Amino acid sequence: MKPAPFAYYCPETLDEAVRLLDEHGENGKVLAGGQSLMPLMSLRLARPEVIIDLNRVPGLDRIAANGDRGLGIGALTRQRALERDASLTARNPLLAAAVPLIGHFQIRNRGTVGGSLVHADPAAELPAVTVALGADFVLTSASGERVVPAEEFYLGYMATAIEANEVLTEIRLPAWKAGRLWAIDEVSRRKGDFAMVGVALWVDLDGSACADARITLFGVGGKPVRVEKAEQRLKGAVLDDSTFKEVERIVADELDPDSDIHASALYRKEVGGVLARRALSAAAARGEDSAS
Ligand SMILES: Cc1cc2nc3c(=O)[nH]c(=O)nc-3n(C[C@H](O)[C@H](O)[C@H](O)COP(=O)(O)OP(=O)(O)OC[C@H]3O[C@@H](n4cnc5c(N)ncnc54)[C@H](O)[C@@H]3O)c2cc1C
Repeated sequence: MKPAPFAYYCPETLDEAVRLLDEHGENGKVLAGGQSLMPLMSLRLARPEVIIDLNRVPGLDRIAANGDRGLGIGALTRQRALERDASLTARNPLLAAAVPLIGHFQIRNRGTVGGSLVHADPAAELPAVTVALGADFVLTSASGERVVPAEEFYLGYMATAIEANEVLTEIRLPAWKAGRLWAIDEVSRRKGDFAMVGVALWVDLDGSACADARITLFGVGGKPVRVEKAEQRLKGAVLDDSTFKEVERIVADELDPDSDIHASALYRKEVGGVLARRALSAAAARGEDSAS
């Protein structure tokens, strides 16, 4: 099918883009990589009257260090550009490992970081990873900027805190801690498919015990799911098989996913637990490798 008729604007400044969004309100939609919006429009599941193409707005695709040695990533940064940034592995290895899991490289060539975050597919990698990393999102409108933590941005199934007149302009990631252990893992039917279940986690150690941890799952609810009970269990614990098994049980117990055509709720609970255990074990092994 073809999209319903729409007016097309291609602003050349951010001011112009947000002014257009303000003018058209709920009838306007921002176009970034078009990898999700265009299929939705072609299927007439989305019928925006006005498209505001961000691709000619300069300065939205920068990857830059923040003052605190964190990262600032422009929302229009192509997923492939992030993947190809040679410094990313050192600056944020969890994010570096997550990006190649998004679809296929043809999709990442056009798809943007901000597009994935705002589209908010519950099975997408980047929303869960930004929640795990404690990222902040900068939302810009005609009346200025506001900063929303990733965890507060996701409200429910494809629902976010962004207002109709706002553009996501930057993703701010805190500095990556030296020695942090991490892993990301997912189960999908075929390589490049959306995950049926996935996990992104990190652990900071104090000696051989866990000082802090974040465990976030995707594909198991309407939005990224942080399993705080498992994080609490990890704090102070040594990373050994009995801890991993207990975390597996807690994660499986805590998840409350829905069934759909891809997998049953029970499958998602069980696999969520198993993936968390495996990811923790992989993270711990990474620590042992770097120590030897
Ligand atoms: C075959 C296929 C497989 C895929 N597999 C995966 C996968 O495994 N994992 C995964 O995570 N994703 C996957 N995707 C989705 C892909 O990552 C998309 O690129 C992404 O979801 C949307 O990014 P985009 O830049 O194309 O956004 P668009 O399609 O342009 O926009 C998507 C939505 O976000 C809004 N938006 C975009 N940018 C902004 C902004 N800066 N501010 C405000 N609103 C904005 C748009 O208005 C629209 O509502 C897949 C897509 C396809 C087609």
